[in-house]
Amino acid sequence: MSQALCPQCKKPMQEAYRPFCSKRCADVDLHKWLTGGYVIPGGAHAEGDGEDETGGEGGLPAASAEWDED
Ligand SMILES: [Zn+2]
Repeated sequence: MSQALCPQCKKPMQEAYRPFCSKRCADVDLHKWLTGGYVIPGGAHAEGDGEDETGGEGGLPAASAEWDED
């Protein structure tokens, strides 16, 4: 039971996209965050919380263009 599953679609996780199985699932998750799909326990307003990633990862290019396709 060492196989991790994608939290989005429950397929086997891919190391390159962990904890997801694909870039698409990772983008879905990111999109949820950006659109407020996730509720942060004990903190309805997370604005100004200090979690600011200014060009840090580099693994998540702007996906807005892809989202317009579907
Ligand atoms: Zn997935």
